[in-house]
Amino acid sequence: MISTDLKDIPKKVLAIGAHPDDVEFNSYGTLAKWAIAGSEITIAVMTDGSKGSWDPTEDIENLIKTRKIEARQAAELINADIYFCDYVDGELEFKSETVKKVAELIRQFKPELIVTHDPFKKYRLHPDHRNCGQIVLDAVVAARDPHFLKELNIKHHRPDKILLFEPEEIDHLETVDEVLDLKVKALLKHKSQYVTTMDITDSSDSNQIRRFENWIFQFAHSAGELIERPAECFKLIDKI
Ligand SMILES: [Zn+2]
Repeated sequence: MISTDLKDIPKKVLAIGAHPDDVEFNSYGTLAKWAIAGSEITIAVMTDGSKGSWDPTEDIENLIKTRKIEARQAAELINADIYFCDYVDGELEFKSETVKKVAELIRQFKPELIVTHDPFKKYRLHPDHRNCGQIVLDAVVAARDPHFLKELNIKHHRPDKILLFEPEEIDHLETVDEVLDLKVKALLKHKSQYVTTMDITDSSDSNQIRRFENWIFQFAHSAGELIERPAECFKLIDKI
């Protein structure tokens, strides 16, 4: 059974991605739609994006700065706040200190709904994606119950729902008809990732930009094939 579009749009959303463009690739359309409808959106980026280059001579400090600027620009398009956790890219570990950090964020931001990676996706190669999903799910448990993390001195907070992107099992679709252009625009803010993730080798070549745009549109149309509308797909956890 696959559900489509949450009946009640969440007022506060916290989207947590391992890298500066993960949330944009997998859930930006949904976030944009909700932001337009009045949701307050915060995007948290777990790592510094410092492995996001195929150039062996890359200035890593500069890359980290650039990726933060790009992520901020993408977030600004939907008036989302952005928070950087600054763990080293590729080295995000599933450990109690990191779970505590994310639980603290959840208690501070008090989201009704959390969006993040599905840690149970089979054959998911990137360890940061797996670990990010696992950290966030454990953090939700620690954030929601009053006897966890008393040392934080922040009142516990129980989100209503979690949406996992790149899901092992799809059971929820969010339609993104009206916001696909905005999603492309947000992704194109990540100029430092043109070569590695968007197959754009020349940003002045409009054909390459159009090819990427078509790819995002096709991806959304195939995700929503069942309902014959462009969509983003998720695993919905709604009993937290
Ligand atoms: Zn990533």
